[in-house]
Amino acid sequence: MEYKNQEVWFVTGAQLLYGGDAVITVNAHSEKIVQGLNDAGTLPVKVVYKGTANSSSEVEKVFKDANSVPECIGVITWMHTFSPAKMWIKGLQNYNKPLLHLHTQFNKEIPWSEIDMDFMNLNQSAHGDREFGHMVSRMRKNRKVVVGHWSDAKVQGRINVWMRVAAAWADAQDMTIVRFGDNMNNVAVTDGDRLEAELRLGYHVDYYGIGELVAYQDKVTESDINDLVSEYEKLYSFADNCKKGEKDHGQVREAARIEIALRRFLKDKNAKAFTTNFDALHGLDQLPGLACQRLMEEGYGFGAEGDWKTAALLRTVWVMSKGLEGGSSFLEDYTYHFNGEKSAILQSHMLEISPAITSQKPRLEVHPLGIGGKNDPARLVFTANKGSGIAATIVDMGNRFRMIVNNVDVIEPEAELPKLPVASSLWIPQPNLEIGAASWIYAGGTHHSAFSYALTNEFFEDYADIAGIELVTIDNDTTINTLKFELKVNEVYYLLNKSLQ
Ligand code: MN
Repeated sequence: MEYKNQEVWFVTGAQLLYGGDAVITVNAHSEKIVQGLNDAGTLPVKVVYKGTANSSSEVEKVFKDANSVPECIGVITWMHTFSPAKMWIKGLQNYNKPLLHLHTQFNKEIPWSEIDMDFMNLNQSAHGDREFGHMVSRMRKNRKVVVGHWSDAKVQGRINVWMRVAAAWADAQDMTIVRFGDNMNNVAVTDGDRLEAELRLGYHVDYYGIGELVAYQDKVTESDINDLVSEYEKLYSFADNCKKGEKDHGQVREAARIEIALRRFLKDKNAKAFTTNFDALHGLDQLPGLACQRLMEEGYGFGAEGDWKTAALLRTVWVMSKGLEGGSSFLEDYTYHFNGEKSAILQSHMLEISPAITSQKPRLEVHPLGIGGKNDPARLVFTANKGSGIAATIVDMGNRFRMIVNNVDVIEPEAELPKLPVASSLWIPQPNLEIGAASWIYAGGTHHSAFSYALTNEFFEDYADIAGIELVTIDNDTTINTLKFELKVNEVYYLLNKSLQ
């Protein structure tokens, strides 16, 4: 299990109308379902059965407990028999964590020759879950509805996604983002309302002067640096000028010094993400490139130029994809390759791309950087793996946050890029560059994104539902007309729906 200290509670809705014996059977069925879910080995979070809820006060109590127990990251509800849904009102009014409604039933098939009225009364989820669903909809509460038999791999797959998102949501409620310097001057899309982000998404953004990092840097010893450079030598191919005794080896050592200082600083601040700004590097030898790359790989969210929203989202993406195949990284739209249906975007950044998105052995190189006015920085150079992935971003639209996701296909470059001194990824946005990029621009998306090979659209759908934010998906089904229409409808929806502002 990827999320060891967390749990999801399972609550079965029932009532005493059919007598205590019925509830005893319902309870036994629920225990078997929960055991079946845990034993399947397909779920990343332990399911804990909390018994049947047979009255308004029992429902209220279990939801209040769920709110207050930190290990509990979400609740799964299921109505075995008919559970009159007015008894769920007070509990749902109080409840403030993710909710999954599992619309299943204990038996997989109808026992044709055996079925009688008693059986039907005991196994009426088809009926009881609709009653419950009405109440949740009537209360305008977001939840995920998963339909199918609990033993089915597809059903468990959908629960798995929701659990991962719930774990990431819990992680974000306690997320400190360290910001060295401010937003890059004059840049609009990376900025936004940090207070609203904390209210809505849980992100806590703290500013630090770069001088505080410099103080950590001054405490790094030569022996600390020796150890880290040895690690680099094991993991990466060193360019000739970076090797021990060569001209630029000193810059590799300076990069290691910054990495050690940064890791210690983030640990002391209990931070899960951070941003840098190339205009605020006083006292550092070089722009932190290698450090950002390696810290991203470890699970720290990162955003360049003060982009705290992307830093936070990248951390969330990393938590959601724990243990899954395929890495994640901060990326930036850089340069186009116009080539008809194969038109693509070269994704890169000045330096900061996570090596988690390549299976190549990265090359450690030092080159001049024409921005920031500092020493030549060390960086890892590689090309991202071929495959399908998702680029995601969150923008502040003034009255709400909008999450934009675009499915993309990472392709191999047509030729080597021998003079490009940074990591890169070449992708075709779905459905193609013409529609994909236009849609992203109409939606007001950033030039930065949190990219993942491991996640599917379902993750972002669940995340946006839990957060109560707008989601715009750009994929193979997108047309400009439908996208523009969706944006207009969303505008009205969010203007009218005050609770979402
Ligand atoms: Mn940038």
